[in-house]
Amino acid sequence: MTNKIATDYLNLPPLRSIKGVGAEIEKKLANLGVTTIEELLMYFPKKYDDFSDIRPIGEISPGLVSVKGTIEIKGSRYSRKGLHLTEAVVNDESGLLPVVWFNQPYRAASIKQNEQYYVSGNYDLQNQRLSVVNPTIEAASDVTVNESRILAIYKEQKGLTSRQIRKIISSALGLNFVIPERLPEWLVSEMSLMSLDKTIRTLHFPENNELLSRAKKRLSIEEIFHLQLATELNRQELQKEKAPSIVFDEAIAKEFVKNLPYKLTEDQRKTAWQILTDIQKTEPMNRLVEGDVGSGKTVVAALASIMVLNSGYQVLFMAPTEILARQHAETFFELLEQTPWRSTIGLLVGGMKQSEKKAMHGRIANGECRFIVGTHALLQDPVVTQKTGIVIIDEQHRFGVDQRQALRKKAGISPHVLCLTATPIPRSLSLTLYGELDLSIIQTMPSGRLETHTEIVLFPARSSVYKLVDEQIELGRQVFAVCPLINESESLQAKAAESLYEELSTKLLRHRRIAIVHGGMKPSQKDEVMTRFAAGDIDVLVATTVIEVGVNVPNASVMVVEGAERFGLAQLHQLRGRIGRGNHQGYCFLIPSQDIGMTKRMRAISSTNNGFKLAEMDLQLRGPGAIYGTRQSGSLDLQFADVNDRALVANAKLAAREFIERRESLVHYRYIAERVRHFQHVSRLN
Ligand code: ADP
Ligand code: MG
Repeated sequence: MTNKIATDYLNLPPLRSIKGVGAEIEKKLANLGVTTIEELLMYFPKKYDDFSDIRPIGEISPGLVSVKGTIEIKGSRYSRKGLHLTEAVVNDESGLLPVVWFNQPYRAASIKQNEQYYVSGNYDLQNQRLSVVNPTIEAASDVTVNESRILAIYKEQKGLTSRQIRKIISSALGLNFVIPERLPEWLVSEMSLMSLDKTIRTLHFPENNELLSRAKKRLSIEEIFHLQLATELNRQELQKEKAPSIVFDEAIAKEFVKNLPYKLTEDQRKTAWQILTDIQKTEPMNRLVEGDVGSGKTVVAALASIMVLNSGYQVLFMAPTEILARQHAETFFELLEQTPWRSTIGLLVGGMKQSEKKAMHGRIANGECRFIVGTHALLQDPVVTQKTGIVIIDEQHRFGVDQRQALRKKAGISPHVLCLTATPIPRSLSLTLYGELDLSIIQTMPSGRLETHTEIVLFPARSSVYKLVDEQIELGRQVFAVCPLINESESLQAKAAESLYEELSTKLLRHRRIAIVHGGMKPSQKDEVMTRFAAGDIDVLVATTVIEVGVNVPNASVMVVEGAERFGLAQLHQLRGRIGRGNHQGYCFLIPSQDIGMTKRMRAISSTNNGFKLAEMDLQLRGPGAIYGTRQSGSLDLQFADVNDRALVANAKLAAREFIERRESLVHYRYIAERVRHFQHVSRLN
């Protein structure tokens, strides 16, 4: 967490001065990112154990229960499957409650006979017997710091338990000081917020559930307030900037549309119109186009681009990877075939030969090449950025104030910005998260598309999938086989891909042409493989999520996802979007790992092909965190706020507006300034 309170003037003593914090503990706290008392106070619990509602064992019914009694260990042993079991019963005057801990062999030794404990957990059927599995317990004698018995549970470390952390924080809070407010006083009183001092004390030691929820609410509002303030300030800044006015030439637009091999969908036309209207203005456009994979965003971007080129300005098109940049360059060559601007298109990526790069730089410098396609690295290229009229960002969504400023400095103008994303975010959520972006949604898919069939095949039947794969290959189709996702490292990911490759090429699909592509390969190698796959020289491409975004191979109609339970819903949807792009029926097979059944996510993905519906489901399954997940950098790190809480968002927005109307200066609010800066500079989407 980057939260820091502005308490420097409190002159709090060092952590070491707190009772119970020695060199050992200090080191452990440092591992948790806590090096000062301020950071300690801002180290918030990850959850709470509520022992406030203690029931007699004789009266409990299944569900969450809290009881108080002695604990008698009945057994501590290993099961046949190698699991460790600690079995015990809790005894109060009214009855006996069986409890079981799995894989916590230290339990037996740590529990004292005849001592009273609070025990809390889910009382439920387990192997035909009612019991509590893995309950949390607290020695009753330890619960003195907190009369309410709602106990803060922190992210722990070996040798640093929640109980210890509570004690340390309690000592820190016992030092005589008041944590100063960091929001304007008028805001605190207008919104009847709990003071920061009370909020922080409550979060660590809640007196009751009502106060706890008020404390959480206070911080939620604060978080969204900062986000909204950043949004408002961004908007204001943007309005001050000058962008080139791009002439709308109707004849050119008509000619372009006429030459397309298909009719634009209603949503494509609407989106194009919105963009073309925006870029006529001298205020920079800041627009996000959301459209599912295959909805046809590229052609819309191309139409905007030719208008910009026609007005004499440069187009920067940035893709997330070099493969995609190359593919896009080719697509634009085709789309602009009949236009005078075909020759202005140029690819500039790191993987190019030095001589090619040099030639491209020359063409850019002399203005011959004005539609430049590449990766994000384009922005760092000193030759590239002159008279940039529009920046188009495909699937990467990183364009902070810094980047805009850098471009403006070079070109003297602020470019229009168009972001394209296949991550469908519900409109209400988009408005909260990316308030300063205008939104276009392409919801209808081009007609005539066949819906991909999605099927979940459990591990024991795995080989049947590869039989079907083989049949499809016989029919001339091509196949993606995606290896299980491993988060830890690129090299492990590569290993996973290699072992699947091994298995397919020596056993399951021995007689087929198989290749592999993963992130550990050089861009030129990846490129070569993708090119061969696109040319039809490879039947099965074993891949990591390298293929997740964008790559277009119309003849590939089968997608096998191994270890499917490890992928997020959005990822699965993106993967599936790689197939069914041509005229052939697409098949997507999801294979969970051994011993794993169907998950909710797999069921969700197999229930629909509609990305917006899936986004809603994802929101329900995992909360909004899923959408701007931690997988990519630049997450908004909201710790308390639920961005789906409309009342919360509306209130925070009002507060942000009022803050601006009152002409409050950020200079007086160091903490607010820091947070606003954070939101302005991290990517707003990711
Ligand atoms: P995405 O939105 O995922 O970037 P693309 O722009 O790559 O989608 O378009 C996917 C495919 O659909 C391309 O092959 C493109 O030529 C085709 N396409 C785009 N618009 C239409 C349309 N209106 N009718 C039919 N096909 C279309
Ligand atoms: Mg695309």
